[in-house]
Amino acid sequence: MQKTEDTNARFGDVYNPATGEVITRIPFSTTDDVNKIVEKAKNAFESWSEVTPIKRARIMFRFLELLNKNTEKLAEIVTREHGKVAIDAQGEVQRGIEIVEYATSIPTALKGEYSDSVGTGVDSYSLRQPLGVVAGITPFNFPAMVPMWMFPIALTCGNTFVLKPSERDPSASAFLAELLKEAGLPDGVFNIVQGDKEAVDAILHHPDIQAVSFVGSTPIAEYIYKTGTDNGKRVQALGGAKNHMIVMPDADIAQATDALMGAAYGSAGERCMAISVAVAVGDQVGDALVKKLSGQIKSLKIGPGTNKSADMGPLITKQHHEKVTGYIKTGIDEGAMLVVDGRTLVVKGHEKGFFLGGCLFDHVKKNMRIYKEEIFGPVLCVVRVKDYAEAVKLINDHEFGNGAAIFTNHGGVARSFMRDVKAGMVGINVPIPVPVAFNSFGGWKRSLFGDVHMHGPEGVRFFTKLKTVTSRWPEGQAQGADYHFPQNK
Ligand code: NAD
Repeated sequence: MQKTEDTNARFGDVYNPATGEVITRIPFSTTDDVNKIVEKAKNAFESWSEVTPIKRARIMFRFLELLNKNTEKLAEIVTREHGKVAIDAQGEVQRGIEIVEYATSIPTALKGEYSDSVGTGVDSYSLRQPLGVVAGITPFNFPAMVPMWMFPIALTCGNTFVLKPSERDPSASAFLAELLKEAGLPDGVFNIVQGDKEAVDAILHHPDIQAVSFVGSTPIAEYIYKTGTDNGKRVQALGGAKNHMIVMPDADIAQATDALMGAAYGSAGERCMAISVAVAVGDQVGDALVKKLSGQIKSLKIGPGTNKSADMGPLITKQHHEKVTGYIKTGIDEGAMLVVDGRTLVVKGHEKGFFLGGCLFDHVKKNMRIYKEEIFGPVLCVVRVKDYAEAVKLINDHEFGNGAAIFTNHGGVARSFMRDVKAGMVGINVPIPVPVAFNSFGGWKRSLFGDVHMHGPEGVRFFTKLKTVTSRWPEGQAQGADYHFPQNK
């Protein structure tokens, strides 16, 4: 990868997690680099915001065509640096493409509203205008999709964009930038700064950046929200998760087990919507679930993402592998029962890769760290409760509130759950209830700082300002000054 600016001294290693080898090095942007890029984006905003919405949407249409042509290539880049299996990487790209499809309809979302005759001879209308230069800071686990949650919407609304992708898998965004250029996006409208905290802090403190959209872990999300808002910016900061799935006694255990397998172990558990806690209502459900899950975990196919038959790839880095295995040790020390231990896994020919087998803990209690904290690996905790009320209370008392699911055949229980649960995204017999592009994505509690969710109509609101115009075309003579507050008498 080329150095974007000439003043860099710091570089970061990017690994292939399946082999443990360094495959590229990226230059980390300095504050000075960020300032230059923001200046470029600010200049580009002048003309980009004047391009009509339909013409901006046409560029998105061309970008969409290029994405459809290059889906496999983009997915390969994701697999190479992230490690997820090819079919999962393609799924991620597809969900990103759907946001671009939505973005092509944004001229409709920008239409505003018109009120005729709000007073005698007075009309009023509203419009949404772009903010200016906006920024996105994204995590490692969806290097193509999460940036696409943000920039297609921001750009089509008329903003210019500065993206700071994860330094652990930065190449997907660089490829997206190439495709945007090929689609005809003018220079300076979409920009990338690579790097770490220095680049992020430069964004957070830059007076010309109007809004920051962030996705990552909760401590950093909170920092971004506080620092960004202290600096007068609009901020949406999506954080970590501990997603629970309740299994009721009337649920189909085979279906619930299959759902848990995909949701807990897909992408090696490195998904913010992964299910990391199975809440078994009653010991009969607990016993049946643990038995079925153990069997299926042992037959998981784990290997490099390029292996077409693999269900699950490696973790992102050696450090993250150590963090996750550290939690497994903690769980044993805390007294949880480790039913399946994935730490012994060896992937032949990939001994230096960051692989970890699926792990299953039973009899996890709510005071344990493995229950309270986000592990972000292929580790599922089973918590046993006596009834539905205890299950919902467990979820509602948890620090995080990203997603939550219930498996049941009882419509009334499902409806109560949908209304009672304190989480932003709810699944009923759906383990990973990720909203589609034209709905909006976001959690509650410490899974989201700010008020506005990501993409869909909320995304348009986030990346625009509302203006309301009241207009009159006076006829006749001047009537003299009126010192009363205008009213409709
Ligand atoms: P992370 O918080 O470590 O990094 C996210 C971004 O913040 C990266 O671009 C990184 O460079 C930057 N960053 C890291 N440390 C920083 C610091 N000290 N100061 C300023 N910037 C810093 O997250 P990650 O490990 O890349 O991603 C995994 C996390 O993201 C998990 O917690 C996961 O739940 C969360 N996530 C949440 C959602 C959601 O929608 N809620 C979606 C995907 C991932």
